[in-house]
Formats: sequence, structure tokens, C-alpha cells
Amino acid sequence: MKTYQHIFFDLDHTLWDYDRNVTESLSELYQIYGLQELGIPTFEKFFASFHAVNFQLWDWYNVGKIDKYNLRKERFPRIFEHAGGNSEAIPAAFEEDFMHRTSSKPHVFPYSKEILTYLKQKYRIHVITNGFNESQAKKMKSANLDGYFELVVTSETTGFKKPDPRIFEYAIHQLQTQAEACLMIGDNPASDILGAQRANIDQVYFNPEGKVIDLQPTYEISHLQELEQLL
Ligand SMILES: [Mg+2]
Repeated sequence: MKTYQHIFFDLDHTLWDYDRNVTESLSELYQIYGLQELGIPTFEKFFASFHAVNFQLWDWYNVGKIDKYNLRKERFPRIFEHAGGNSEAIPAAFEEDFMHRTSSKPHVFPYSKEILTYLKQKYRIHVITNGFNESQAKKMKSANLDGYFELVVTSETTGFKKPDPRIFEYAIHQLQTQAEACLMIGDNPASDILGAQRANIDQVYFNPEGKVIDLQPTYEISHLQELEQLL
């Protein structure tokens, strides 16, 4: 085991419970805007379409096929159409309301705060995220996570998205450290694990659902508490 000094955390799906927070806000929006009357028969249909379309758009964003502006502009029209609704009937404030509502939700993965408190006594801890500055800052504040991190590196600030090693190299440079002194913890093999490997940073794959992947992370955990054994 190397002597790490810096721990990098991914945010969405690693600490901040993206699925739970998004499900709550979509459910509120379905009710408030009367989406059934706009042709989307059930919340389940709306939710399934959100997932299908949103993941596709984020995949495109991650490989540079779409930018932030167009991702946000096209998201709900595509979701409405996917769900069989009338995309011309989407209220003007819908995307804005979704962003605000979602990033104001507080739910985090079990043991998030406990593990951050534990790690903060021994290491310097930071965030490396592919999200957008404003929404990631809001999420951390709403979930009371903002006090734990020294450096928050976003793809928006650096111009590089995980798995591009340059987003990790940016963090290493900012902290005036070396790859060997760093450890990346994240849930996404294609961005967190592959990206850290490309930057020669050891990785912890957070894998609560027991997915099988092709890459070989340095460590793997299914619950954040397991980090106490590792670190
Ligand atoms: Mg993630």
C-alpha cells in the first residue's frame, strides 16, 4: 500500500445520491406541471424516458459530441418525445426548475459524512467531477458536503473531462503533489477508474451494485465504510 496524501472523490453516484435526488425532483415536477395532461401517461414512463435520454446525452457530453448549453436545451424536449408527450407543451421554466430542484436535494450515500470525517483527519480530500460548476457547488451545499473538501475540480473549470488524464494532472499541479501520493474514488469505470489509470493514480472502484467490469481497479468496495479498512 502506498502512502497517500490526497484523496480525490467523484461526486454524483459516489457521495451525492444522484438517483434518489433526481427521482424525488422528477416526481415533484410530474405533479406540479401536470405532465399527465401533456401526454405522458405515468410517472414511471416519464422516469424511464428521463434515464434513457439523459444517459445518452451525458455519454455524448462526455465524448464532446454535445456541449452544456445544448444538453440542457435538448434534454426535456427529447424526454417528452421519448415518453410520448407533446414537447411543444413543455413549460419554459422546466429545465431551470429541474436543475434547481435537483441540486437542492440533500440525499447522500450511506456513511458519506462519516467516511469524510474519518478521512479528513488523515488526508487532504478533494473532488474531481465532470459536472457543471454551479450545480455541483449547489449540490455539495444542499447535502452539507461542502465543508470537507479543499479543492473542487470540475470539467467546466479545467476544460477536460474524466477519463482525460489532464483533469487529474490539473489537480496534481494545483496541489503541487505527485500521482503516487493520490488516490481516486469513484463509481464510474469509464471515467473515474480509466481516467485515474491514465494519470497513474491508484483507484478505488465504488461498486455497490456488484457490476462486472473489464478494468482492474487497484481496490474495489461496495460500501463507503470499507474505506476505513483501506485507508
Ligand atoms: Mg459518478
